[in-house]
Amino acid sequence: MKKDFKAAYLKAQAELEMLYEISNAMHATLNLEEILYTILTAVTSHVGLSFNRAMLFFVNEKEKRLEGKMGIGPDSAEDASAVWSHIEKHRMGLDELIETRSQFEHLKKSQLNKTVRSIRIPISEASGVIALTAMEGMPFIINTEESKQKINNEMSKILNLENFVTVPLKARDKVIGVIVADNLFTKKPITNDDIHMLTTFANQAGMAIENSRLYERTLVLSNSDSLTGLWHHGYFQYLLGQEIEYASLRKQSFSILMIDIDDFKKFNDTNGHQAGDAMLRSISSILKKISKRIDIVARYGGEEFVILLPATKKQEAIVLAERLRKSVEENKNLNGITISLGVASFPEDSEEKETLISHADKALYKAKRTGKNKVCT
Ligand code: GH3
Ligand code: MG
Ligand code: MG
Repeated sequence: MKKDFKAAYLKAQAELEMLYEISNAMHATLNLEEILYTILTAVTSHVGLSFNRAMLFFVNEKEKRLEGKMGIGPDSAEDASAVWSHIEKHRMGLDELIETRSQFEHLKKSQLNKTVRSIRIPISEASGVIALTAMEGMPFIINTEESKQKINNEMSKILNLENFVTVPLKARDKVIGVIVADNLFTKKPITNDDIHMLTTFANQAGMAIENSRLYERTLVLSNSDSLTGLWHHGYFQYLLGQEIEYASLRKQSFSILMIDIDDFKKFNDTNGHQAGDAMLRSISSILKKISKRIDIVARYGGEEFVILLPATKKQEAIVLAERLRKSVEENKNLNGITISLGVASFPEDSEEKETLISHADKALYKAKRTGKNKVCT
């Protein structure tokens, strides 16, 4: 009896220590990708919950479906033994596993991660046990013939699921996602203890995810312009400073485009300010749509915009500027509105923030002076 008590005590202590370690790791960052990576590493590392594989799905409330976000785990038995023997040999703790940036590289190559990210599951009973976990807000363990009836065949084939466990991710009693874990390679049976630990862990993880999302949302809202949703002037200045540092270190170039709507005062006078605002929104979305995902599009002032093009030399910047100019000119919804653009590049025009902007400004005014609806450098 006494011995049982001691064993239970030691086990509870080990659990607490592990949860403490995981919780520290999760609070080290507010970046969502890093948090998800930490969570799944904790579920699969030998110092954590030591499942072979872990997959994470988020609830998309608007679309009423679960969307695969990340999957961690070896793609094959050979891959599995290589990864695990490396971890054992170097006695890597959770901290080190998360620190190892090469793991992010591993994620990019991981077939499991790709598969998970391609999965969309409608939240309805017919979709099987993963959807059911989100609906009921409770864990499921699939390890008997009877429980296997609950599996959606197609999903288990795609993910190669045999015996596995699902737990809801909750934040303030709301289900925000689902974690699926299994031992595909070791075939180690999943115990009630495993589920208990995973559930406790999932509640912490849910809070960490929610905090990170709130933080990212606040960051976006507080730095964007309310009319157009683009970054505002102040944040653009900050990002430009960052880009100068980054590009100097790497000896890279980048370019900025300064954009002004032609004869916009006349448009306002003829059509009213509200139509003018709608026009500003339409032009903003064209700029967003045509630029690359890494480009930074900001509203510089009233009807002026600026785009930062990382790793872009002047010649390529001119090509993009010309594409933007043409898309606005040819867009039938814009009633013949046109834009003028000025291009400046780092480091050839200047290596300094203010001078670089003034170069782009001067180029823009050259475009205005020499007839508008054109690109100048
Ligand atoms: P130019 O071709 O030389 O650029 O002529 P312009 O009339 O566009 O002159 P300017 O660039 O100085 O444009 C300023 C005008 O832009 C004043 C105002 O009518 C309009 N404008 C600025 N901000 C806003 C805004 O937030 N909403 C609306 N509707 N109009 C704005
Ligand atoms: Mg202007
Ligand atoms: Mg103007």
